Amino acid sequence: MMKAWPLHAVGDIRMEIRPKPVPGPGEVLLRVRACGICGSDIPRVFSKGTYSFPTVPGHEFAGSIEAVGESVDESLIGRGAAVFPLLPCRACSACEIGQFALCENYDYIGSRRDGAFAEYIAVPVWNLLLLPDGVSYEEAAMVEPAAVAVHALRQAGVGIGDTVLIYGAGPIGLMIAQWAEAWGAGRVLLIDIEDEKLAFAQSRGFAHTCNAATDDVPAWVRGLTNGRRADVTIEGAGSSAALENAMHTTRPFGKVVLMGNPSGDMKLTKDGYWNILRKNLTVVGSWNSYYANVPVNEWRLTLDFIASGKLRLEPLITHRVPIEGIGSALQMMRDRSSFSVKVMYCAH
Ligand SMILES: [Zn+2]
Ligand SMILES: [Zn+2]
Repeated sequence: MMKAWPLHAVGDIRMEIRPKPVPGPGEVLLRVRACGICGSDIPRVFSKGTYSFPTVPGHEFAGSIEAVGESVDESLIGRGAAVFPLLPCRACSACEIGQFALCENYDYIGSRRDGAFAEYIAVPVWNLLLLPDGVSYEEAAMVEPAAVAVHALRQAGVGIGDTVLIYGAGPIGLMIAQWAEAWGAGRVLLIDIEDEKLAFAQSRGFAHTCNAATDDVPAWVRGLTNGRRADVTIEGAGSSAALENAMHTTRPFGKVVLMGNPSGDMKLTKDGYWNILRKNLTVVGSWNSYYANVPVNEWRLTLDFIASGKLRLEPLITHRVPIEGIGSALQMMRDRSSFSVKVMYCAH
């Protein structure tokens, strides 16, 4: 038997004792060692619900392989792995070209099928990324957001010495900032509307921060860049204000990547629109990450960067809770009763 946190209805999540899953053919039984609570889990649990009920949330996870199903190599037992949470249909046109994140008929661990707010989970071998030496389970549980972060940056590319401007200083914003530095950015600028997030970013080594709620962001960016503005801007806040500012804070012929999860309609003023035209801006969207070798497996890339120490994800963890603490951690994040960046369920 095992402990798990199924969501029974919007707002109704409770820990239960249920049978350990049995790995089917092509699957392994993973003992969950770390699972991040994603920002998207808060609306999932408290307002939108999972695809159906009951479903156990939890999609940012890693664990150790405890058992294998039929036709799976037994030597995997004991290995650690991160998990790509999407199960593609393998039949649609997107799957045909390896663009699994764009699959038209996918299944998803932690929103459409049971996820990792549990002690154990059965996962197909195809979804496993075995951990290289030196990568902790906690870091491995952050490969998902870190792959989303690098995917966004790869949409624009970064030239050596470029100024990279990021709207949104949450976990993904801070990961993008680290990627940008590893990539050779000259300067990384972080914008948010919460002073606590900006102070955290500074404590993690990002000196250039600005509060968009109280400061004039375009003026601040011009001041820092000799009037030049950013070469690459990432809109990760998902707000109209950030979208608007992004068009004003990017240099002529610069690039703007849109990846923020909007909470309502995204609006742009006529002036913001003119900025796109007059400055010949390139505006691109970014969705999820690549999990195929063509053009590159961004999950594998992320793991390699963690293993080599170029990406340091552990300093982003502000809270670690045992499985019993998942319910109160979700409430804490919903109520913002305590400042948090990455909140993680850990089992050692
Ligand atoms: Zn997530
Ligand atoms: Zn598909």
